[in-house]
Amino acid sequence: MAYSYDPENIFAKILRGEIPNSTVLETDHALAFHDIAPAAPDHVLVIPKGPYVSYDHFASEASDAEIVGYTRAIGEVCKMLGVDLGHEGEGFRLIANTGRNGVQDVPHLHVHILAGRPLGPMIKKA
Ligand code: AMP
Repeated sequence: MAYSYDPENIFAKILRGEIPNSTVLETDHALAFHDIAPAAPDHVLVIPKGPYVSYDHFASEASDAEIVGYTRAIGEVCKMLGVDLGHEGEGFRLIANTGRNGVQDVPHLHVHILAGRPLGPMIKKA
């Protein structure tokens, strides 16, 4: 089955400039902005500029340039936040909620970068 992408999702509207955002970094292939409801002292979302619903969609259909650009942007944001291990930052958690079981609210690929305090166990055991 082919992937389907809803161009009316809220992050698509942010990319089109129809909804404001608090930008952290913008590159040719990615936009990073503060989450509107932060779950940690640092909570930044990084999205690709292309119309991809999920990481698996992106991994299978994005160009090499998009994949490199997006991945580098995530690393750059970690450096900007001072949480990257390359500069002895305190670390972070990278999350890509996906689909129904992943409890994805916005159907445009995004990773959450969460940092600024110890984040505790990832998920509770079933
Ligand atoms: P997810 O459940 O992984 O799809 O997460 C969606 C995230 O988008 C949530 O953490 C929301 O707080 C965040 N969010 C929703 N609308 C906006 C917005 N307009 N600007 C910034 N973050 C948003």
